[in-house]
Parts: sequence; C-alpha cells; structure tokens
Amino acid sequence: MEIERHEYDVVVIGAGGAGLRAAIEARQQGKRTAIVCKSLFGKAHTVMAEGGAAAAMGNVNSDDNWMVHFRDTMRGGKFLNNWRMAELHAKEAPDRVWELEAWGALFDRTKDGKISQRNFGGHEYPRLAHVGDRTGLELIRTLQQRVVALQQEDYEQHGDYEAYIKVFAECTVTRLLKDGDRISGAFGYWRESGSFVVLDAPAVVLATGGIGKSYVVTSNSWEYTGDGHALALLAGADLINMEFIQFHPTGMVWPPSVRGILVTESVRGDGGVLRNSAGERFMFNYIPEVFKDKYATTEEEADRWYTDQANNRRPPELLPRDEVARAINAEVKAGRGSPQGGVFLDVSTRLPAEEIRRRLPSMHHQFKELADVDITAEPMQVGPTCHYIMGGVEVDADTGAAAVPGLFAAGEVSGGMHGSNRLGGNSLSDLLVFGRRAGAGAAAYVDALPARPKIGQEQLDEAREEALAPLQRTGENPYEVHHELQRTMNELVGIIRKAEEVAEALEVVEKLKERVRLVGAAGSRIYNPGWHLALDLRNMILVSECVARAALLREESRGGHTRDDFPGMNPEWRRKLLVCSTADGSSITVEEKVQPAMRDDLITLFDRDELKKYLTDEEMSEFDGISK
Ligand code: FAD
Repeated sequence: MEIERHEYDVVVIGAGGAGLRAAIEARQQGKRTAIVCKSLFGKAHTVMAEGGAAAAMGNVNSDDNWMVHFRDTMRGGKFLNNWRMAELHAKEAPDRVWELEAWGALFDRTKDGKISQRNFGGHEYPRLAHVGDRTGLELIRTLQQRVVALQQEDYEQHGDYEAYIKVFAECTVTRLLKDGDRISGAFGYWRESGSFVVLDAPAVVLATGGIGKSYVVTSNSWEYTGDGHALALLAGADLINMEFIQFHPTGMVWPPSVRGILVTESVRGDGGVLRNSAGERFMFNYIPEVFKDKYATTEEEADRWYTDQANNRRPPELLPRDEVARAINAEVKAGRGSPQGGVFLDVSTRLPAEEIRRRLPSMHHQFKELADVDITAEPMQVGPTCHYIMGGVEVDADTGAAAVPGLFAAGEVSGGMHGSNRLGGNSLSDLLVFGRRAGAGAAAYVDALPARPKIGQEQLDEAREEALAPLQRTGENPYEVHHELQRTMNELVGIIRKAEEVAEALEVVEKLKERVRLVGAAGSRIYNPGWHLALDLRNMILVSECVARAALLREESRGGHTRDDFPGMNPEWRRKLLVCSTADGSSITVEEKVQPAMRDDLITLFDRDELKKYLTDEEMSEFDGISK
C-alpha cells in the first residue's frame, strides 16, 4: 500500500488562530511550512469565538496597560499561571491585534475611530477588541488572507503558490514520528479517501485546540477530541494543569439538541443580568472573599458601572467564569432554576431591541433559529457547559518548545498561560502571541539543527497498523464507548468533584480502555466517520485519564477545579503543578512539580493585601523582603 510523502521544515497541526499564526511566522522566517487540519480549512474552533481578543490597548479607558492586564490574568488564574507567559501575553497582545488590523481585519470602532474594546468578566477595563460578536471569524479570515498573500508572493518568486506554505485540509494526524528522541515528522490520513500521508519534518507545532468532546454538554465542536494533547503525550511530552477545565456559565439549555452551545459573555458585558426563578439577581450572593472589594454589592451601583466605571464597582455577573458557573450550578441545585434546568439571562429589559440586534447579532440569530426565542423580548435560559481546557502541553514560555526536541505547541493545546482559569478574550490574544512565538521557535530550532532527523520504516508500519486496526474488527461500537466516556466525565469529573466520584470515573476509564482496544468500524476507509471516531477514542481516553487523575490528586478548589470535599483554596497547592505523562502509551502517571517563584518586578505589581489571599506565609515573608 503506497503512502503519500511530503517534506517540510515545519509542520503545523491545526489551522485555528494559533496554527495559522505559527505557520505565517515560520513561513516569514523562510521555512517550508505545511498546515494540516482535520476539518475544512477555515472551519477551526477559533471561528466560533464571539466576544473578542483581550489586549490592553487603552482605547476606551486610557488607564489600561499591560500591567493591569497581567494582574487581571493572574487573578483570573488564581495565581497558578505560568507568570512568564502571562507577562509576554499582556505585553505583546496589543501588537498582535494591530498587526491583524494591518493585515486587513475590520474591527468595530470607537467614536473617535480607534479599535473599540468591550467589557468582559475579570478584565478591569474594556479590553476586548471585537467585530460584533463574530470576532473569531474575522480573525481567521484575516489570517487566511495573510496565508494567501504569502502564497501569492511565493508564486511570483518561485512559480508555485505552494512552494513555501501548503494546506492539507481534512487530513487527520494520528501519530508524531521520531528519530531517537527528536521529532522527525507526522503520520495521518485523508478524511475523504482514508489513504495515508506522511509529512517528514524536523519541527512540528501542535495547535489542535481542546478536549470538550470528552463531555456530553459542551460548547466545543466535533474536532475537539484532545488529539494534540494525546499526540504530545505519546511522543514523550508532559501535560500540566489538566484538572482545570472551564465550564462556561452560559450555554444554551434548551432545546436538548442544542444543549451546551455557547451564549457569549458579551451578553453580560453589554448589560445582561442573571436571575433565578424568583426573579432575584442572585450573583450578589456569590461574590467570593478574594473579590469582595472589586464588585458592586447593590444593583444600583452595578448598573451605574456601565456608564461610570471610575466611580463604581463592576456588576457581579462579570466575575470570572468559574465563579459564575458555580453560582448557577448552586441556584439550580437549590431548586431556583428555570423550567429547563438553567437560570434566566436577560438582556431584553436592559437594552433597546435595536441595540441588541446591533451588538449581539449572532446571539439574536442563534436563539431565534435554534430555540424560537426572541432575545430582544424575553430572557434566555442558560447553564454551565464544558468550554475550555486550561491544561495542556508544558512549553517554554518564550519559544513554545515542549520537552521533546522539535515539538512545539501553542493555543488551547498548550498549558500554563491561564493557570487554573482563563479570562474570556484571553484565548484569542493567546493564539496570536504564542502562535507567533511557536512559529519562530520552530524556525530557530530548524536553523540550529545539524542534520535532518529521519523516519524509520518500523514506525511507519506501526502507525499504519494502528490506524487500520478498527477496520479489521467488528467488536465494540465506537459511538457507544464515546457516549459512556462523555457521560462519565460529565457526571463524575464535571463542574463539582468529589474523591469517590472521580475514583469511580477512573475505574470506568480503565474498563473503557479495554473496550477501546476492541472497537471496530464497519465499512471501508472511504469517508467513514465510525472509523474516525474509533481513532479519536484513543486520544479522548488518554486525556480523560489525565483530567481525572490530576483532579483526584489536587485536594483543594481553585479556578476550574472545584472539590466538594476540599472547598477552599490552599496556598500550599498554588505552588504545585501536576504533570501528566505516559511511559507505555496507555496508563498515565502524575507527578507534582513546584512552580518557579514569580520575578520580583512582577510580584511587586500586586498589593500585599491581595497576595495574602493566595500566598503561603513563607512566600509572604519573601515578598516582604523584596518589597522593602
Ligand atoms: P482551534 O481554533 O480549535 O483549531 C484547532 C485546529 O486543529 C483545527 O483546524 C482542527 O481541525 C485541527 N486539528 C485538531 N486535531 C487534529 C488532528 N489530529 N490532525 C489535524 N488537525 C487537527 N476565546 C476568546 O478569547 N474570545 C472569545 O470570544 C471566545 N469565544 C468562544 C466561543 C466559543 C463558542 C468557543 C467554543 C470558544 C471560544 N473561545 C473564545 C475560545 C477560543 O475560541 C479557543 O480557545 C481558540 O479558538 C482555540 O484556538 P486554537 O488555534 O488553539 O485551536
């Protein structure tokens, strides 16, 4: 059986914001670059991003700057973030947004013609550069346009549009290949024909996004099966922060066929409020101690904030997502939910209909079409939905390099930047900042390489056999195994966790591993979704085990990890990262690793009183030494 082969300097797996920005950088640095994506080109997850990209440009409030953004990001992540990533992100995000504009992005404007910025949970000032509620679409459109512009340059110079940058769309990577300890390429299959393809390359950038399809209720689409996370693990890299999963507070709850689809935070940023079945604006009852001085305690003050931010505190509907999701969960559990098991999100009584249609066109359309609800006239029903994973490949902050030489990662598949909880809007900017850095890191790595690594035939045979195996079996049904995994993760390792339940989930995962070994797919290799799912299951199982094992070990509640049996944040745990790896390609080991202490000039950006809420006594005395 012939296997198609291609040679590149850098292979980027994923064509969302992170992948495209990485590929553009690698190509700009003269590297022959392949972009591989399992969905259609242009249909990455990034397209779905609604609210905007966070960047401290100070266009709407000139008090904003990178230091305020850095502080907000660290607070949002409950101080567990990789602080170097948070620093680079806050400093470089404005340049990345301006660069997008220079490449043709059409952002909404302020009255004086600057890029407009909107409010979002956890951001002290209006900070999200946006295009209505379709920012991700514009971001992808612009980056694709940039790819095409580079291809046109290449045509003029080399007579071939694809001389330096080629897109392999609807092509799924199932294995990373290595020469000794170094990356030497990637193995995959074409979705349509099922035939195999090998990309020889000394550097691979993973930009495959998240893992949401391991959960039943999710805002994520079909391609979020944790492939990049699993590919990295199987290649010998480490994953960190896997216990931290963001349940977005506002997913649709009705009708059942659309359960989980996102209702953007912009609804709350633009004035929408949350109410329970008694009509109470309940978020005032859920302001945690660490945020007490920053959020309004009365409806009057909260409402004044929308027009006068200098003299009022923010509405509690704009607390970080983990706080709002837990509050909604608690209201529903206490019997104060909406008829279909969510709570009410109302913008209809807060803004004129015309304004709602202008600011939130996609939401208006989404509810009208999918739920027959007119959001200009009635409230929406919403509830938490699995949205984003903070955990991912452990990378060097400056270059995106993973522990395996030649492997890089950027975007949602990487870990560290967002700590235990990501602020809304910080992903799109993360993709641009770290996509660029990973592309540059990969290019520099290739330049420094003395010789090109080779791909051994044995590895190719193994990858081929592994991919073909489900077609040669008639055992377990992949859809049933998938559903069992999703249900288990949703119910036992969901928004609120308990040791017994997580342990039970791990037992189920062990049994599912056995079943995955028997999963079969009827039919041929030609466009066969059952076969594709059978292959994705390996990844979802590996990633789910990481999430559950880390969740069981972390005996505290922080950000996207809430333990019913350990409800508080424990400063001792803030210093610890849980690092997942696999030695045999099947079972996961988790080890503790202590985070490096924050650089002095960064930690002194915070007030002592605030740090006291997060740091140990020992860390506080070190801080007192520095700040003297
Ligand atoms: P993606 O954009 O998901 O791209 C992943 C790519 O990898 C795809 O091309 C996919 O086909 C490919 N891929 C995956 N596996 C394989 C494989 N095995 N082989 C080949 N290719 C593969 N964030 C914000 O900052 N602001 C927002 O307003 C916002 N709104 C959001 C709204 C929704 C509904 C959702 C779901 C998320 C939102 N987010 C937002 C989060 C943000 O959109 C994502 O975190 C981000 O887009 C991820 O980008 P990425 O480049 O890492 O991956």
